[in-house]
Amino acid sequence: MIPFNKPYLTGKETKYIEEAVATGKISGNGIFTQKCHTFFEEKYGFKKVLLTTSCTDALEMCAILADIQSGDEIIVPSYTFVSSALAFVRQNANIIFADSYPDNPNIDTDKIENLITDKTKAIVVVHYAGIACDMEKILEIAEKHNLIVIEDAAQAIDSYYTFRDGTKKALGSIGHLGAFSFHETKNIISGEGGMLTINDERFINRAEIIWEKGTNRSMFFRGEINKYGWVDTGSSFLPSEIISAFLWAQLENIDDIQEKRRAIWNRYYEGLKDNKNFSLPVIPEFATNNAHMFYIVCKDLSSRTELIKKLKENNILAVFHYLSLHKSEFYTQKHNSRELPNSDHFEECLLRLPFYFELAETEQEKIINIINEQ
Ligand SMILES: *Cc1c(COP(=O)(O)O)cnc(C)c1O
Repeated sequence: MIPFNKPYLTGKETKYIEEAVATGKISGNGIFTQKCHTFFEEKYGFKKVLLTTSCTDALEMCAILADIQSGDEIIVPSYTFVSSALAFVRQNANIIFADSYPDNPNIDTDKIENLITDKTKAIVVVHYAGIACDMEKILEIAEKHNLIVIEDAAQAIDSYYTFRDGTKKALGSIGHLGAFSFHETKNIISGEGGMLTINDERFINRAEIIWEKGTNRSMFFRGEINKYGWVDTGSSFLPSEIISAFLWAQLENIDDIQEKRRAIWNRYYEGLKDNKNFSLPVIPEFATNNAHMFYIVCKDLSSRTELIKKLKENNILAVFHYLSLHKSEFYTQKHNSRELPNSDHFEECLLRLPFYFELAETEQEKIINIINEQ
């Protein structure tokens, strides 16, 4: 069976975990956590990062930092993972779902302004498949209406956006706040794991406090204060050193991992680009491709179902992705559903192909041939 995903290990993960254990300090914010923080800040230009136990956690921190209150409205794409909305629902926000582009699952920037009211507080953008949303337009809308921009960059490590003046910025470094995932299905993994990126300095001090159960312990450790106490809300958002040690082994190899993944992506693209039965991912000029996933968009639900079946008969596991959140059981219990046809289109027609570091060229050829056979 060719699986859909297979977590890749660099070989150093257990060695670094042993090192972390040997230091005698295995709770959070130790040597490995700080190595990871410095790496991300230096390589991608995030102003400040904090590792978290998941991307969901990082998004919850965003909701607290953005001071989301009961009744505030948050604009979120419907074609995304539950957490992009759930983190704000936990602050009692009202989620206003936005549609995707017809040819790209990212939020359609032309449809955002119609959704803005005087209660709108933030826009959550999701860089689907690690391909950038149109951040310049989103920042313009946000500035005009005084909104906070939160990037759900769960899939977007090592991907960039280029502004009209040529400035290139890493995804997750553009909005006020960003959230990444190191879940085992992502490019860089630690089993479960995530990261908050803070690009607006106003939020930095408070983020450290929320991260450490509402205490100013981070300041205490740096010697900035001589005792620490309870000063704000928060939770235990920081991962243990065991997780950070694992992550460090991945980060040391990030360039190799990314090079390999891009080669796999390009091989799919070349092998499938002439097939007229489906369309391939659109990568706008302003976006880079971090090879997080390879998907095709079938003509309709039945042709997708058939293709999944045919691949399965050949021991290949291809999977569809999100169910539109605006039609979910949880959301429709409390809200009237609106029509978001593009989101529904991706729900029904998008199909993800096996994608992982160790996917062999021969296996990939087999997948491509079977798809092209029909
Ligand atoms: C994976 C993912 C998440 C959740 O990440 P966790 O680390 O599992 O919490 C959130 N949003 C998007 C878009 C994702 O792909």
